[in-house]
Amino acid sequence: MKASKVAYGRAETLDDVFGLMDEAGERARILAGGQSLVAALNLRLDEDVALIDINRIQELSGIADRDDALRIGALTRHVDLGASTLIAEHAPLLHQAVPLIAHAAIRCRGTIGGSLANADPAAELAACVVALDAEIVATSRAGERRIPASRFFTGLFDTALRPGELISAIIVRKAEPGERQRILELARRSGDFAIVGLAGVRRGQSTRLAYFGAGDTPILATNAMKALDAGATLDAAVAALSNDLDPPSDANGSARYRMHLAAVLLRRMVAELSSGSHVGMAA
Ligand SMILES: Cc1cc2nc3c(=O)[nH]c(=O)nc-3n(C[C@H](O)[C@H](O)[C@H](O)COP(=O)(O)OP(=O)(O)OC[C@H]3O[C@@H](n4cnc5c(N)ncnc54)[C@H](O)[C@@H]3O)c2cc1C
Repeated sequence: MKASKVAYGRAETLDDVFGLMDEAGERARILAGGQSLVAALNLRLDEDVALIDINRIQELSGIADRDDALRIGALTRHVDLGASTLIAEHAPLLHQAVPLIAHAAIRCRGTIGGSLANADPAAELAACVVALDAEIVATSRAGERRIPASRFFTGLFDTALRPGELISAIIVRKAEPGERQRILELARRSGDFAIVGLAGVRRGQSTRLAYFGAGDTPILATNAMKALDAGATLDAAVAALSNDLDPPSDANGSARYRMHLAAVLLRRMVAELSSGSHVGMAA
C-alpha cells in the first residue's frame, strides 16, 4: 500500500515551521527522519496530512557542549548520536542505546527528536532520557519551555507537546566521575523492538531505572529505585517492581512473561551497575 496524497512544505528556519503549522492547522505533521511517519502514512494509519520537512534547519542539528550539560539538537540522527565522542564520554547510555535501535538503514535517517515525539513505549531513547533525567526543549512561536523527560511521555504515542510546538533539543546533564550507565534489553531478534528493556543510571548512591516495553510509556521504577537506594536486598527490589509495572499482554509476550523479564533485567542491571568494568562510565 502507498500513502494517499499529502501536502508538503520545506522549512528552512523555525519561523518557516511556525508559518507552515499555522497554515496546516491540525493537518500539520513534522517530518524528521520519516522512519515512523512515512511508514504510518504508507499503511494509511494517518491520512490527509500536511508534512512540514525540518531537515534543512541548521539550528536543530548537532551536539553542543554546554559546561555541565550537552544540548542535543532534535535532528541529530541515531547514527551521529552513536558516533559522537561527546556522547560516548558524557552520556554513555545514549551511546550504548544506538546499536539496539532497529537496523543500520533506519539509524541513518531516524532522529532523536522524532523518536521522542513518536513516543513508542518500546523505544530505547525514550527510556534513556527518562533514566538520565534529561529535559526536552519544546519550541513554539512563544519561545522555549523545558519539559522534564519524566513528564514528557503522557500516554501511548502521546506526549506533553502542545499544538504549535516542536522538539528543538534535548538537554542531558553530563555524567559525574564514577557514574555508571547501562542499557539492557530482551528482543526476539537483533533489530526488533524490545519485548522489555531497562535503562539504568547510578549517580553517587542513587539509582534511576527506566523500563521500556513494559507499559504505555517509559516507566520510572520508583519503588524498586527506593528499595535499592535504601540498601534493601535485591530480592526486595525485585518484589517492589510489582508496584511499579503492570505490563500488557500482546503477541510478543504475556504480562506475566514480561514481569518475569523485567525482574531478570533488574538483577542483571544491578550486577552491571555495581561491577563496572564493561559498563559505560564517566572517567
Ligand atoms: C522497521 C523499523 C524498526 C524500528 N525499530 C526501532 C527500535 O528497535 N527502537 C526504536 O527506538 N525505534 C525503532 N524504530 C523507529 C525509529 O527509531 C525512528 O527513527 C523513530 O521512531 C522516528 O524518528 P524519525 O526521525 O524517523 O521521525 P519521523 O518518522 O519523521 O516522525 C515521527 C513522529 O514524530 C514527529 N516529529 C518528528 N520530529 C519532531 C520534532 N522535532 N518535534 C515534534 N514532532 C516531531 C512526526 O511528526 C511524527 O509524528 C523503528 C522503525 C522502523 C521503520
